[in-house]
Amino acid sequence: MRRLIFLGAPGAGKGTQAKLLSEEMKLAHISTGEMLRSAVSEGSELGKKVGAIMESGQLVPDELIVELIAERIKQPDCENGYILDGFPRTVPQAEALGAMLGSVKPTVILFEVTMDDVEARLANRRSQEDRADDSDDVQRERLRVYQEQTAPLISYYDEQNMLTRVSGAGSIDEVFQKLLQALA
Ligand code: AMP
Repeated sequence: MRRLIFLGAPGAGKGTQAKLLSEEMKLAHISTGEMLRSAVSEGSELGKKVGAIMESGQLVPDELIVELIAERIKQPDCENGYILDGFPRTVPQAEALGAMLGSVKPTVILFEVTMDDVEARLANRRSQEDRADDSDDVQRERLRVYQEQTAPLISYYDEQNMLTRVSGAGSIDEVFQKLLQALA
């Protein structure tokens, strides 16, 4: 059973690659961002709590996300393994996941991209999708939040020898081939 964590800046290609790999390897694709956006559009209790936070580019509270993931990875579609896309995003989230998994060590894939790439991709996404959290200012805030709260996970996992680096430069297919090689 494969348990993968996809890590990388907003716009690094995590979501696109997670979708492709989940189909290729028959893994559940767990995107916390997608789960939260569904909660917001359904108007659920969770959605009401997180809507404004997401629109501002901030992270939603760790407890909420950890609870969401704890329930999600118990679902039957995760039996063959799963890809966590967008979780963990803080060191406390990573610690909570570690506690959930016990001695099982997931593989952490870091998609490495330059800031120029990130900006070009985000501009492209802005022109193609209608995401309330993708305005210019909010994107900048999300990048800042990434640097401050999520980037520390790179050394957190590197120190535990759990990190595999994949270059996120190039076309979707080029990156996918590199990802498959890294996992082979
Ligand atoms: P994403 O689609 O992964 O970029 O997530 C969109 C938004 O959902 C983020 O900007 C956060 O507000 C929220 N979010 C998604 N995943 C997490 C997480 N693991 N921890 C906290 N907030 C999250």
